Amino acid sequence: MAKIAVYKFGGASVKDSDSIKNLADIFRNRLRKNLVIVVSAMGKTTNSLEEIIDLRLKSEDWYSKSAILETFHLKVCEELFEQDHPVFSRIKNWFIQLKLAVERPLTKENYDEFYDQVVSFGELVATTIVMEYLCAQGLIVLWQDARELIRTNSDFRFAQVDWGWTRVACQSQLLPKLDQFPVLTQGFIGADAKGRTTTLGREGSDFTAAILAACLDAESVTIWKDVPGVLNADPKRFPAARLFDELDYKQAAQMTFYGASVIHPKTIKPLANKSIPLFVKSFLNPEAKGTKIYGSGKPNPTPTLIVKDRQILVTFQVTDFSFVEEQHIHQVYRELDLLKLRVNLLQTSAIGISIVIDYQLFKLEKLVEKLASIFKVRYNENLQLLTILNPEEEMIRGFSASYTILLEQRTRTTFQLVGKPI
Ligand code: ASP
Ligand code: MG
Repeated sequence: MAKIAVYKFGGASVKDSDSIKNLADIFRNRLRKNLVIVVSAMGKTTNSLEEIIDLRLKSEDWYSKSAILETFHLKVCEELFEQDHPVFSRIKNWFIQLKLAVERPLTKENYDEFYDQVVSFGELVATTIVMEYLCAQGLIVLWQDARELIRTNSDFRFAQVDWGWTRVACQSQLLPKLDQFPVLTQGFIGADAKGRTTTLGREGSDFTAAILAACLDAESVTIWKDVPGVLNADPKRFPAARLFDELDYKQAAQMTFYGASVIHPKTIKPLANKSIPLFVKSFLNPEAKGTKIYGSGKPNPTPTLIVKDRQILVTFQVTDFSFVEEQHIHQVYRELDLLKLRVNLLQTSAIGISIVIDYQLFKLEKLVEKLASIFKVRYNENLQLLTILNPEEEMIRGFSASYTILLEQRTRTTFQLVGKPI
């Protein structure tokens, strides 16, 4: 049977015209049939689309922001294509559709659905440009709408995959195309049973690559990054960070859980279940080996540092002089689940439950609203969550001294603190 490979290129790898040219260079000797290419939105486009939604919500001028975004994409096209290339009208067409989506009614209630209809344009526009450019270079790829392949439920912004449906679609629609051509599609987006666009969570394109690989029984996934592979700290924060040559699925999954942004947290599981290796490589140095993540069964004891920004520490205190019981934890977790909020850290004391969650518009407000009648709720915003896996004592001392710490937790293999850097 044909060996299928999946490549994923994130925002940084298509952030401008030079990056797109570099991407074409990567493909010059790698492009082949049975290759699926997943591309996400260019640079910080998704953030800009979020800002447009935010302005729209506040009834402020979102139109100029959308015009800036359109101009940015058209300028990239000017640098890549001849003046009369059809890509220009295709991009303008996407932006007309984007504006129509933003003009639709928006309330707090339909916010999540509205969000997905709008942010998905980042991927649609980027894949159009990349596909047209590759084809113009003689690198023929087929453009595929990911919403025809990835079926999800209607949990907008955090949609859950309908694996059965998606697998059938991949096998029946994608496989025959791959038999003849490489196929390029969008990360991050899917559609629910009613055909409405959904998204898989911010930075979810890695997960798309894993979904497609699992459903196609691919032989490997490669995530192309602006870093050499998976390192033991974010090299943008800690320049002395070291590269892992290989990592076990379990350890990589653990790192993503604590917030290592190099891979989306949901990526590992579908790959591990099918023993599909995941390569993380640099698009700036494509010949370098990068990191291989697979079922090595060997834990790597290197201390690993992970920092998560924009964290909120929320404390729920029992008000009636009773102690924290299972039922209290259950009440808090039920609300968190309904709001699709994930707990990054939990600590209970005699009379309180403290949790650390990511910042998300409206979510904290809704959580407090729901639980204020049962608990006294207090919170601190804009904190950092620092996790050290396999810590050395000296590191713990050093980092503890450089934070105003609000909460700290330790196990044999993990040290975590929540606070503000001094
Ligand atoms: N463009 C989306 C985001 O920035 C998805 C991704 O980059 O993976 O969240
Ligand atoms: Mg992105």
